[in-house]
Amino acid sequence: MYDVAIVGAGVIGASIFRELTKYNLKVVILEKEKDVAMGTTRANSAIIHAGYDPEQGTLMAKYNVWGSELFEGLCKELSVPYKRNGSLVIGFNDEEMITLRKMYENGLKNKVRGITLLNREEALRKEPNLSTAIKGALYAPTGAIVGPFEYTIALIENGVVNGGDVRTSARVMQITKQEDVFTLMLEDNSKLRCKYVVNAAGLYADQVHNMVCEESYKILPRRGQYYVMDKSQGEIVSHTIFQCPGKMGKGVLVTPTVHGNLLVGPNSEDLEDRVDVGVTHEGLNAIQKAAKRTTEHINYRESIRNFSGLRALSDRSDFIVEEASVKGFIDVAGMKSPGLSAAPAIALDVVAMLWQIGLTNSLNKTFKPEREQIRFMELSPKDKNELIRKDLRYGTVICRCEGITEGEIIDSIQNVVGATTVDGVKRRCRPGMGRCQGGFCGPRVQEILARELHLNLEDIVLDREGAYILTGKTK
Ligand SMILES: Cc1cc2nc3c(=O)[nH]c(=O)nc-3n(C[C@H](O)[C@H](O)[C@H](O)COP(=O)(O)OP(=O)(O)OC[C@H]3O[C@@H](n4cnc5c(N)ncnc54)[C@H](O)[C@@H]3O)c2cc1C
Repeated sequence: MYDVAIVGAGVIGASIFRELTKYNLKVVILEKEKDVAMGTTRANSAIIHAGYDPEQGTLMAKYNVWGSELFEGLCKELSVPYKRNGSLVIGFNDEEMITLRKMYENGLKNKVRGITLLNREEALRKEPNLSTAIKGALYAPTGAIVGPFEYTIALIENGVVNGGDVRTSARVMQITKQEDVFTLMLEDNSKLRCKYVVNAAGLYADQVHNMVCEESYKILPRRGQYYVMDKSQGEIVSHTIFQCPGKMGKGVLVTPTVHGNLLVGPNSEDLEDRVDVGVTHEGLNAIQKAAKRTTEHINYRESIRNFSGLRALSDRSDFIVEEASVKGFIDVAGMKSPGLSAAPAIALDVVAMLWQIGLTNSLNKTFKPEREQIRFMELSPKDKNELIRKDLRYGTVICRCEGITEGEIIDSIQNVVGATTVDGVKRRCRPGMGRCQGGFCGPRVQEILARELHLNLEDIVLDREGAYILTGKTK
């Protein structure tokens, strides 16, 4: 029997999972998809917000500021791309300048370090490509950018190395509780018993909650679409640039990514559907129009991909981090933005909450916080040579756009939470993330996956069960 079962392997579940492996506990994380980090954590703006935005006194404010302080250290420990590039919220008229001042004052109350209000000239000195129509900006030096799925995969890998279990293709269908034990029924009809359940099921958190508790909140999906621009556009701005927030959220941002691309988006659309991550002509046009207010310098012919993500809002205004009506069942739900930024702090509080309600606690003295990942292109020429001398596969470049070697792809497959899909390889070590979007390296990645996993080429899927790329031979 497990001490704790976590439902959902997004950034929230993964953060709690790794934190729990610091103790001598039997912990499992369950994910309905074929891989981890496949929900909202896969598709968002990837910003570690400074924390001036959420209203003082809310859980969002508390966890955002605290989480943002923890992020840098965690990314170093786990070898995850992170950059503290700072952020600017720009204002164009007197009304927006009042909004910026209010955000500044709210930021001071939230204890955000280093925020300042800049006049037009100061803002343009920091970002010369901004529209000259701006009147001023709120500057937050602690704002940062991260690789959200790389971070989540790293947390889970590290949790597994430290004794936790992960099960993918393990959708929780039913939960019952008898005496002090929960029984979770999975899609393959297997059963799993545990003393505590943490519900981190993102867009499905209300459904998982309702399996064993009385209904107490509803999840409301809100879609956001994006442009990913080629690296040729990656230096148009160096900070993350927001416009003043509106009723539907933080608005359209323009930001560099940790890998040197430029991200433009998201819009905001309330949907009924919890799976529709499509992009639309109208949505993308609206993003271009809004981003033009920030800067005229983006060349949209350099767009290499569009994608969208679904925010899991709830019918409550704040994050939901609480024990439900059923003892031992903890909801971590309604994780709209800044859920990614808040995740490390939420994990600490959820673990403390578990102690309070009876989980016993003894430190895992063998806990190893570090995780390493070889990124060939980031090595010095000397280290590259040494690596190739040890293993020739690091000398074969498979993805020409991003410079990813066969050795790195094999590492991603042979890892403790190894990739089994083309998308899984891409999210771990980036082949297919570049300008050609896998046009050249995609078939080579499929071949390597088939070879390493001893599967037929036709059995390799893009990301999910049934997402086949090849159907068979034509000749
Ligand atoms: C457009 C957009 C932009 C955003 N930008 C930012 C940002 O810049 N900064 C920031 O801090 N936050 C941002 N966010 C919010 C952030 O992405 C989320 O708060 C965070 O990813 C939520 O993580 P999660 O683990 O709760 O959910 P998810 O990542 O969705 O994970 C939940 C997991 O549970 C699994 N699951 C569901 N039901 C079951 C079941 N029955 N059995 C097993 N598994 C199940 C799902 O498959 C999924 O993998 C943004 C969100 C969006 C959509």
